[in-house]
Amino acid sequence: MSHKILIVEDEPEIAQVIKFILENEGFNCSKCHHGLSALYEFKQYQPDVIILDLMLPDLDGLEVCARIRQGNHDKDPYILMLTAKSEEIDRVVGLSTGADDYLVKPFSSAELIARIRALLRRSLRQIDSENLIYNTQNFQVNVSERIAYRNLTSGEKQVLDLTTLEFNLLTTFVSQPNRVWDRDQLIKKLWGSDFYGDDRVIDTHIARLRKKIETDPAHPNFVKTLIGVGYKFQDRKI
Ligand code: CA
Repeated sequence: MSHKILIVEDEPEIAQVIKFILENEGFNCSKCHHGLSALYEFKQYQPDVIILDLMLPDLDGLEVCARIRQGNHDKDPYILMLTAKSEEIDRVVGLSTGADDYLVKPFSSAELIARIRALLRRSLRQIDSENLIYNTQNFQVNVSERIAYRNLTSGEKQVLDLTTLEFNLLTTFVSQPNRVWDRDQLIKKLWGSDFYGDDRVIDTHIARLRKKIETDPAHPNFVKTLIGVGYKFQDRKI
């Protein structure tokens, strides 16, 4: 059975284009244009993924997201938030909304499809889900429970609030500390080999992960950039 996607977007033309792109990919789609109707439609339609525009006329995307996450529902959908400007993303990410990923308008159809496939891709969960915990000197990632911690110098553990993609990226890094990754290898890990978008998309996710795990994201201690090569996660395996 094909996955169900609910599109919540107040501009009817954009909603229609997204619906067209996704139906072409074999997804089952429903769309609505208001926050309140999104909550209703969510209960009726039981989508696997919600594409949720941030700016909506009544309830905004953050409020819709919060209500869906708070409620005790049979189904916990993946939420891909759409924003108009990259500055909005920064604001949204800071609020820990419970969205799994974010996409800035305008975006290509390849990028949209890649993001949705990444969310639906459970391979990382399935393969690694048997009580697998990665420990490095500074991090602990519990793959089966989908929880990541930063080990503070005080000895305490700080829970990291990561999107699904950020979690998968950190899991990839801690599974092989000090390995050098090029963009292609990371993209294959996160999106699979059928990714057609710009390989710089990985840089965006790295930047967001750094904001959440590094003390000074401009001078990262853990996720190092190797110019002309890619990235390296620097930490000690324990
Ligand atoms: Ca809008």
